[in-house]
Amino acid sequence: MSELELSPERMREMGYQVVDRLVERIAGLDAAPAWRGTTRAEMRRRLGKPDPAEPVAFEALLDELFQHVLPLATSTDHPRFFAFIPSCPTWPGVLGDFLASGSGIYPGTWIGSGGYTALELEVLGWFKEWIGYPAESAGLLMSGGSMATLAALVTARAARLGTTPGDGVVYTSSQAHSSVVRAARILGFAEGRIRVVEADDAFRLAPAALAEAIAADRSRGLNPFFVAASAGATSTGVIDPLDELADLCGSEGAWLHVDAAYGGFAVLTRRGEALLRGLHRADSITLDPHKWLFQPFEAGCLMVRRGRELLEAFRVSGTYLQDTELSDGGDPDDAEVNFGDRGPQLTRSARALKIWLSVRHFGLDRFRGAIERGLELAERAAARIAASDALELVSGPHLGVVCFRSGGGEAEDSTRVRRLLDEGTGMVSSTRLRGEYVMRLCIMNHRTRWEDVERVIAALERPSAGEPSVAGGRPNSREGP
Ligand SMILES: *Cc1c(COP(=O)(O)O)cnc(C)c1O
Repeated sequence: MSELELSPERMREMGYQVVDRLVERIAGLDAAPAWRGTTRAEMRRRLGKPDPAEPVAFEALLDELFQHVLPLATSTDHPRFFAFIPSCPTWPGVLGDFLASGSGIYPGTWIGSGGYTALELEVLGWFKEWIGYPAESAGLLMSGGSMATLAALVTARAARLGTTPGDGVVYTSSQAHSSVVRAARILGFAEGRIRVVEADDAFRLAPAALAEAIAADRSRGLNPFFVAASAGATSTGVIDPLDELADLCGSEGAWLHVDAAYGGFAVLTRRGEALLRGLHRADSITLDPHKWLFQPFEAGCLMVRRGRELLEAFRVSGTYLQDTELSDGGDPDDAEVNFGDRGPQLTRSARALKIWLSVRHFGLDRFRGAIERGLELAERAAARIAASDALELVSGPHLGVVCFRSGGGEAEDSTRVRRLLDEGTGMVSSTRLRGEYVMRLCIMNHRTRWEDVERVIAALERPSAGEPSVAGGRPNSREGP
């Protein structure tokens, strides 16, 4: 045996221990706090200065992780975690990631993993069907929504501008996720070529405002080529008017990208499908299976309507990869695929395994039901808040998101949000709408029941009575997620 090898018995023993600890954690979630914060100073004390030269028993290391590291976090899979965008993976999904790292496959090329690559194509085929994309569309699984949107902009730039930004202008709304502007910056678009159009009163990217911005840029001799819409927006869950934006982009010759990282999988429900009408008309779409498809981090996805454009944007051949060059031509369904040609990564992880395993194991109807329940709970939460004497509904429900306030102002509301955390009951986050602080619930955990939502709303109804905010930093500060 090599110095890094273990006996089969010992490997099993270690694996069972990890499984036992994870199952225990998940079974105990309801009774555990949704968030446990820490500071750099506390972590220095807890971790000490370990000497990596010294071997340590695996059990002792697990103890250390489960005592001093892993619990000091937001549990994004906690049934009362309603902050940011929750993620509650299924157990088969978790095991899928374990399988991916233990099975020694290489998902960058067809010769590296023909079997797995076909499986990822199968999963992408499901997504195509769900979002109503044509057969010639193509996509790939990526680390998350931010990378997918970046790759979408690379694809659009290659198709419309070439390899540099030129006179191209990127448009998005003031409610869009920060990853859109970041992608444009990474790709070298100057500040004056990134237009953030002010969202309308309903927090949507209004086609009229967009048309105006496009016309102004055309008169300056610029090239309006890329529009990133949201479905739904992270702060409010609001879906931009996709059909109207598709009409406008069509007549302007601009590429329409829809960032549906959070909301896209709602298309699996009847209600979500109606809300997302027009999604299939986008030139490209960002989806995040690690959000509303209940997958562990990381699982994002880019889908491109004309799949050829994805390949044209990313494919670069290298002599060291000559053995992976595949015959093209003939029926594209029979062409082998190198996923390394479809995105920025060559070596990548086998993310389709978790999706395939969990969806096939439970069957799609159960996923539909879990998404549908998130929509219902958000609707019920909004009605409960609207009827409350202590709270005012500000926005929603839109998909799983509800925004509200007490009327007592930012200091009062942020104290309530903080108190909820410190009491360990649950976790919500906040955002700003028209400049004003609002509390925000995002409901999408398949384990959340109405009692969980009710408990958190009731806790947020209680006035703070001028309690000082507890020290330790805001949860969304530098030390937070
Ligand atoms: C979460 C989210 C993103 C970012 O996705 P990551 O997976 O965190 O990179 C982008 N857009 C929207 C609308 C989101 O909800």
